[in-house]
Amino acid sequence: MSKPSMIAVDGPSASGKSTLAEKLAEYLGYLYFDTGVMYRAVTFAVLQNDISLENEKEISDLAEKIVIDVNPATQKDGRKNDVLLNGKDVTWNLCKPDVEARVSQVSSYAIVRKAMTEQQRRIGIRGRVVMVGRDIGTVVLPDADLKIYLDASIEERARRRYEERKRRGEKISYEQVLEGMQNRDQIDSSRKIAPLQAAKDAVVIQSDGFTSDDILKQVIGLIEK
Ligand code: C5P
Repeated sequence: MSKPSMIAVDGPSASGKSTLAEKLAEYLGYLYFDTGVMYRAVTFAVLQNDISLENEKEISDLAEKIVIDVNPATQKDGRKNDVLLNGKDVTWNLCKPDVEARVSQVSSYAIVRKAMTEQQRRIGIRGRVVMVGRDIGTVVLPDADLKIYLDASIEERARRRYEERKRRGEKISYEQVLEGMQNRDQIDSSRKIAPLQAAKDAVVIQSDGFTSDDILKQVIGLIEK
């Protein structure tokens, strides 16, 4: 049997989906594409242009106008891709707390989603891709050959994200990270358009207590079966 060509990996923040997708893409020799960075890039542009988070019209116009490129990493500083906003490298700006705190609201707007989904679909349908996000299996690539929905308890996810941010030198408490994550989960799962949910035909994997290699092995097992 031939290997799946279009692979969708969805799940909430810090469920381990990016790590899984990156390793899986490397194993298969496919493109790794993280759609979250596109929503983060729009949010960064919103902040740069001083647009109010409530101003859906201006945010939508901006999302339709800006050019976001996600290219292979050109620097060895821990990045997974270069993310360019209108040609300028903004990769590290996208992890900043002010972007993180606002991205869920920006990505709840219909026109923002439409603009991003079109670009993602164009890349996805070429195949040989592992695409990561919240709505890849349900909306962006409903015909994906393999859909994984990776989940973990909120405490485990907050702990992972807390460790990550501490390593980056941020002064933040576990409770703050947990609260921010609960807030983001709530907005992402309850929005009207393309909410975070597992596709009916997705394989749901719970990652609590497993290493990223355990999860990778499990998914490779599904592919080779
Ligand atoms: O995956 P990451 O944490 O980078 O995603 C940031 C935010 O972008 C998510 O919390 C969600 O609001 C939004 N997002 C989305 N749909 C996707 C990917 C990300 O709405 N496919």
